[in-house]
Amino acid sequence: MSTTLAQLREYLADLPVVSVHEHHREDDAYRDLSLEGLFLRSYVGWAYPGHQHIADREGFLDHVRFNAYFVWLQQGLQRIYGCPAITPRSWDAVSAQITAAHHASPTWHLDVMRRHGRYRRAIQDAFWHVGSDVGHPEFFSPAFRINAFVMCHHPDMADHNGTSLARFDLPWGCFSEYVQAVKALIRRARANGAVAMKSALAYDRDLAFAPATYDDAARAFGKRPDAVDDATRRAYQDFMFHVCCEIAAELQLPFQHHTGLGLIGGSNPMKLEPAIRRHPETTFVLFHGGYPWVQEIAGLAHNYPNVLPDLTWLPLIAPTAAVGAIHEWVEAAQTARGICWGGDAFSGEESVGAALALKHVLATALAHKVDEGYFGLEDAQLLARMICSENAERVYGLTSPPDPLP
Ligand SMILES: [Zn+2]
Repeated sequence: MSTTLAQLREYLADLPVVSVHEHHREDDAYRDLSLEGLFLRSYVGWAYPGHQHIADREGFLDHVRFNAYFVWLQQGLQRIYGCPAITPRSWDAVSAQITAAHHASPTWHLDVMRRHGRYRRAIQDAFWHVGSDVGHPEFFSPAFRINAFVMCHHPDMADHNGTSLARFDLPWGCFSEYVQAVKALIRRARANGAVAMKSALAYDRDLAFAPATYDDAARAFGKRPDAVDDATRRAYQDFMFHVCCEIAAELQLPFQHHTGLGLIGGSNPMKLEPAIRRHPETTFVLFHGGYPWVQEIAGLAHNYPNVLPDLTWLPLIAPTAAVGAIHEWVEAAQTARGICWGGDAFSGEESVGAALALKHVLATALAHKVDEGYFGLEDAQLLARMICSENAERVYGLTSPPDPLP
C-alpha cells in the first residue's frame, strides 16, 4: 500500500459523513431483525433469485459472496459486531447477535450509523410515507418523493412502490385547481422540513420527458387508467414532471433523480438533458453516478451548472466505477462543490457498510491523484471532507449536531 493511501485511509476513518439519501424504516421494523431478514431487506436480496426466503444458506453464500452488495454488508457487520465472515457455521451466532442488539435498543439501527458509520445526518426518502422523517427529525430530513404525482392521473392509481395519492386531500374535479394544490402541498412539505424533491421515475418509465401542454395533460386528468391511451397518459406524466421541475426551482429545493439501472433501457441520464436545458433554475442532482453511465454524468456536469453529480449508492453497486467517477467528476465537473453521496440503505448495518464503501473508494481515488501529481495531500483531504459531509450540508442547508455519538 502506498504511504499516501495509508495516510488518506487514516484521515478518512474518523471523518463524519452526511448522507443525502436513505430508506430507513420506522424503529419497530427492526425489532426482530435476523441475519436472513437483514439480507432480504438489503440489496443482497436483489442479487438472490426468488428472494422471499433463504432456504439453502450454503447455496446463497456461494451465489452472492463476490457481489459488492454482499461484500460491503459483511464488512459493515464485522465493523459493528466484531463477528467473523458469514459462513453456514457462523450464521446462527451472528444472527443472534444482531437480534439481541435490536431487542436491547429500539434505536439501534440509528445508533450504529452514528457510532460505526460516523453519520451526522441523513436525508430520508420514505417512499411508503411521502415526506416522513420516520419519527427522527433530529437525524433525518425528509425528501419529497414525486413519483405518484407524475404517474397517477386518478386517485385509484399507484406508482411502482404502490404509493397512491388517495391519502392526500386533492381536488380531483378540476385540473388547474389540482395543479395548484400539488404545488401547495410541496410548499407545505418544504415549510415542514423537506430539503429535497426526489424522483425515482426511472423505476416507472424512461427519463425522456417531452414538452407537453396543459391541454394534453388535462385529457388524462381524473380518468381511470383503462380510459386513457398510452400517448395521453405519457403526456400527462411529462407535463407533471415539468410542473415538479418548476416547483423545485421556485422553492430552491435540489431535485434528486434516480439515473441508471432501474428500468435500464430508459434510465440513461442523457435522456434528462432536454429537461435540464429547459429548466436552468432547477438543480438536477443525478444519483447513482448514472451507473453504468458514469461518464454521461461527467459530461452533463461539465456543460450544465444546474447539474450536481452524485455518488449515492454507487460505491455499493460497483466500487471500481465509483473510483472512476470520483476521478472524472473532480476533473470535468464545473465545480467539485456539488458532489455529494448517500448510502441509499434500508438498515443501520447496510448504512455502515455503505459508509465504509464510500471511504474505501475516496481513499483509492484521491491517493491515486496525489501520487500522480494532480494535486497535493491537503487538497485530497479537503475533497474528502467536501464529499463526505460539507457539500451535502451546503447544498441541502442541513444543520448537524457537532459530533456523532461516541
Ligand atoms: Zn434509493
